[in-house]
Amino acid sequence: MPNSPEPIAIIGAGIAGLTLALSLHHYSIPSVIYEMRPESHLTPGPIMLAPNALRIFDKLGVYERIRDAGFPIEGLTFSQTVQQKQKDSAKEDSVGCEKQEQIKVKKVDDWLIGHEKMYGYKALRIMRQSVLVVLRALCADVGIPIHYSKCFSHITLESPTSVSFAFTDGSTATTPFLVGADGIWSRIRSIVVPDPEKAEPVWAGGLAITATVKAEAINLPNPLQDGNEGWGLPNIMSSNAGVVLIVPYTLDGKLIQLARQWPWENLSKDGWKKLASDKQFLHDQLLRDLEVWPEPVRRGLEKLEKESIVVWPYYSLPKLERWRSEKGRVIIVGDAAHAVPPMAGQGACQGVEGAWSLAGATLNDALNLWEKQRQEHVAKVVQLTKDLNSLRLPLQERDKLGLSEEFWRNVMGRNGELMWLYGNGGIETL
Ligand SMILES: Cc1cc2nc3c(=O)[nH]c(=O)nc-3n(C[C@H](O)[C@H](O)[C@H](O)COP(=O)(O)OP(=O)(O)OC[C@H]3O[C@@H](n4cnc5c(N)ncnc54)[C@H](O)[C@@H]3O)c2cc1C
Repeated sequence: MPNSPEPIAIIGAGIAGLTLALSLHHYSIPSVIYEMRPESHLTPGPIMLAPNALRIFDKLGVYERIRDAGFPIEGLTFSQTVQQKQKDSAKEDSVGCEKQEQIKVKKVDDWLIGHEKMYGYKALRIMRQSVLVVLRALCADVGIPIHYSKCFSHITLESPTSVSFAFTDGSTATTPFLVGADGIWSRIRSIVVPDPEKAEPVWAGGLAITATVKAEAINLPNPLQDGNEGWGLPNIMSSNAGVVLIVPYTLDGKLIQLARQWPWENLSKDGWKKLASDKQFLHDQLLRDLEVWPEPVRRGLEKLEKESIVVWPYYSLPKLERWRSEKGRVIIVGDAAHAVPPMAGQGACQGVEGAWSLAGATLNDALNLWEKQRQEHVAKVVQLTKDLNSLRLPLQERDKLGLSEEFWRNVMGRNGELMWLYGNGGIETL
């Protein structure tokens, strides 16, 4: 990035765009953000921030302002439901040894996603809006302008030294660099990679529905008691009706997010909007196949807060051949460049890494290096998310894959095997 007196224009005030602005400021490079939504827009639901993102947030003064607003996490428990026949003593006298199904929970694995000693930080589950509020406040503190309700439309001219562009309201602006931090449905991506076949999001076939429940309503068994090891929090519990994710997201652990996912048909943008607003229908989905879950999960699903329901349709992006336009003045970052699948909780984290390292890269050669290194790193993260999918399979299915011990060691990271991800790996030379 040049040390230019003209501000760099950033499209999108999501996690990547705001982090980029603060990172540029860290290197004394001015920027300005344009966001199509109004300032009053609230983005619902919690996200997980892993040590690789928190380390950068620490450098930017974000971490100290969010750490007490979220739930700190070390290991994530993978568990499985087990059907057990139990003697029903009430019926035994009359019918003789009649048995009743009971659903137990068995621990399968622990996935280390944060560790103060190993990585410097625990992971943090936190409301996304709380993170955005802090990032925006820090931008305001250092005088980075954010123009809301300002929607990027198209580029009018890209020269070797600048970019002129227009907003949907007809106004225009010129900048030395235009950075698209405009999310998975990025308009700016089509300038960098004009062929839609190579740059359009692809339907990944699944939908997650998440909602909040009060911890006191769900009343989970204590995982420290014998026989309850499978109830460690956070938890990804598998059954033959798929998985349920159980994650606290406030420091006191009093609010818990429950999430389920299913194969789903692709919908249009309007279709997704309609689905997202139909809380009753979504609630009914969350209550599907209740009988396969153990009692506390059933209770949680029945008592969740309908208004808190959020949907996450899974799209993936093809691996893009480039993240910068041919003339090099238009750049994409965050989900606009790489929509990382959900399994590793790395979508936003990779956006944070990409933004920080983009700001730190110096003009031309370093931008080439940034693009190359980041593309290689994100490809590794995407592969990890695919490997992690096998952890969510029922044990019999998993066994059929015949995966080696070394594979599991590398995926679980208990001895630092994931240092490349949670350490400095994504940004080390920039
Ligand atoms: C339900 C759910 C749960 C998730 N959980 C996790 C998690 O636990 N951990 C994790 O790391 N990731 C998670 N993710 C992924 C993560 O949310 C994304 O990777 C991250 O938000 C990407 O950030 P971004 O800034 O690149 O894009 P976005 O957050 O999509 O922000 C893009 C911004 O650009 C604006 N914009 C778009 N077009 C224009 C335009 N033309 N003009 C002006 N502004 C525009 C948008 O309004 C938006 O504010 C989750 C995603 C979902 C949906």
